[in-house]
Amino acid sequence: MSDCVFCMIASGEIPSTPVYEDETVLAFDDIAPQAPVHTLIIPRAHYRDINDSVPDEVLVALLRAVPAVAAAKGVDASGYRVIVNTGDDAGQTVHHLHVHVIGGRSLGEGMVRPAEGE
Ligand code: AMP
Ligand code: ZN
Repeated sequence: MSDCVFCMIASGEIPSTPVYEDETVLAFDDIAPQAPVHTLIIPRAHYRDINDSVPDEVLVALLRAVPAVAAAKGVDASGYRVIVNTGDDAGQTVHHLHVHVIGGRSLGEGMVRPAEGE
């Protein structure tokens, strides 16, 4: 998609420093890291989110890249969190499927912050 920032990164139109790459996926550091390690894994092809018709081989490639990214970033032993924001309630802002790999510090036990007032 021509107006998709992650398609532009996948095509090289926007330069990135690969943390990991293969023929199906590309991983690069998040521009606004939420932790010392915050890397995104994207399929080279455009899929809106995990609800899209994503081929099995792409799903496998995305998940196979997770431990490779964790090892490359040195958090495979210390631990990390894997997040796939999907849709409005998850706050998805880039509508090209991506996997967040976040670590490098204790992330706490809760995965979800309570809403205001809860
Ligand atoms: P999400 O909220 O799951 O859609 O996350 C999108 C992520 O993409 C955010 O963490 C952004 O900081 C990140 N992001 C947006 N543009 C870029 C970019 N050009 N390079 C790297 N990360 C980006
Ligand atoms: Zn895209």
